[in-house]
Amino acid sequence: VRAADYVIIGGGITGAGLAYHLAADGADVVLLDRRGICSGATGATHTQIGMHNRMPGIQLDLAFYTIRILETLGAELDCDLEVNRTGNLMLLEHEAAFGWVEGRRETQRRAGIVSEFIPLAELRRREPWLGPRVIAAVLYPQSIRMNSMRICHAYLKAAAGRGARILATAPATAIRVEGGRVTGVETAEGFISARNVVNAAGAWAAEVGAMAGVSVPIRLNKGHVVVTERVPEVGVKMKGEVILHDEAGSPTGPGGGSSPASEAEVRYGVKFVFTQTDHGNCLIGRSGEEPSDTARRGVDRRAVAAILSRATSFMPWLAGVRCIRTFTGFRPYSPDGLPMLGPSSRVEGFIVAAGHGDKGVGWLCTSKILADHLTGRRPEIPIDPFLFSRMEARSIEQ
Ligand SMILES: Cc1cc2nc3c(=O)[nH]c(=O)nc-3n(C[C@H](O)[C@H](O)[C@H](O)COP(=O)(O)OP(=O)(O)OC[C@H]3O[C@@H](n4cnc5c(N)ncnc54)[C@H](O)[C@@H]3O)c2cc1C
Repeated sequence: VRAADYVIIGGGITGAGLAYHLAADGADVVLLDRRGICSGATGATHTQIGMHNRMPGIQLDLAFYTIRILETLGAELDCDLEVNRTGNLMLLEHEAAFGWVEGRRETQRRAGIVSEFIPLAELRRREPWLGPRVIAAVLYPQSIRMNSMRICHAYLKAAAGRGARILATAPATAIRVEGGRVTGVETAEGFISARNVVNAAGAWAAEVGAMAGVSVPIRLNKGHVVVTERVPEVGVKMKGEVILHDEAGSPTGPGGGSSPASEAEVRYGVKFVFTQTDHGNCLIGRSGEEPSDTARRGVDRRAVAAILSRATSFMPWLAGVRCIRTFTGFRPYSPDGLPMLGPSSRVEGFIVAAGHGDKGVGWLCTSKILADHLTGRRPEIPIDPFLFSRMEARSIEQ
């Protein structure tokens, strides 16, 4: 490969979606990854859009837009993306939390988020898998589970069908900038000249930004998820997340209190999250550690032990299920929690698509928004609040 209109660095869900949309628009696209497609956070997620932790605002707009896209994306890409409107449960442990929960549900309801309070007796009947620690729950029926890796590969297959070239193990090693604009990318397989270079490198976006002399601020949060053997008979597709425990880091937090977390749970930022795939495997999580460093990607047994001890305290039957593997990934947060999309105002032709934090799968619409912006169409959701250049303006102010 010698030249392209766009070189996209990063074969996660963000880069893959962008490759698809740009190629569909007729652009000549090359996408690079260094360790293989989905080797970053996209291959290490719970892969859900949970409505329980959404509040009104532009972040919610992104989630609703993604859900709309997912309704037809499988047919568009001709692939079963394992998209299921499973709903999810927010589990409650103490009556003291009920008032707070009601206030939160009312705010969410006004923004179009549907929820149903499930009292104890009803919960025992409907969800016999939950242990006695849980005394009520809120069901969020709009929540979705999907297969992020399938989506990523399907985007790339469709992009390749429209002429995009995918180099799955060709790290970008340098970005050439001449006279204030990018001219191409050095890769392990040679130089590719391009007038547009997209940084969709997730947790490595700061590193890739530095190659072009552009500062891309990314805060990393390392997560572990444990995968179990198939448990088809459980029949639960998604159970939810216990948010009350950790929300304010204390038992007297906004949720009105919860049982104190163990020292290990606090240290590794453990929350109970449980989802079950179409194939019956359970994904159990999760940890969240900061500060993090991509050089320390390995599994930490103490984090895994804390995840499992918390999980079995909510679902005791899990103690009898075998774990088959654990994966880790890095959530790449921007300073203000919103994705960073669009051209740098300092280096012409250098475009950023990063900073999706813990919601990048549920914000897959951002690749469509960015592609529309780059190709001169009006994005369905205005890109302005997400423009990467806001970060550059901010660093001048400082
Ligand atoms: C434990 C965990 C659970 C999560 N759960 C959810 C969830 O339930 N729902 C949700 O919406 N989100 C979730 N997330 C967040 C979500 O996974 C991320 O926001 C999303 O995957 C980011 O996608 P991305 O394409 O921007 O980055 P990534 O998927 O990280 O892709 C970046 C790619 O860039 C490549 N790269 C880096 N440097 C170079 C280079 N020099 N040359 C070439 N390639 C390079 C990497 O190899 C990588 O493949 C979770 C994350 C974690 C860690």
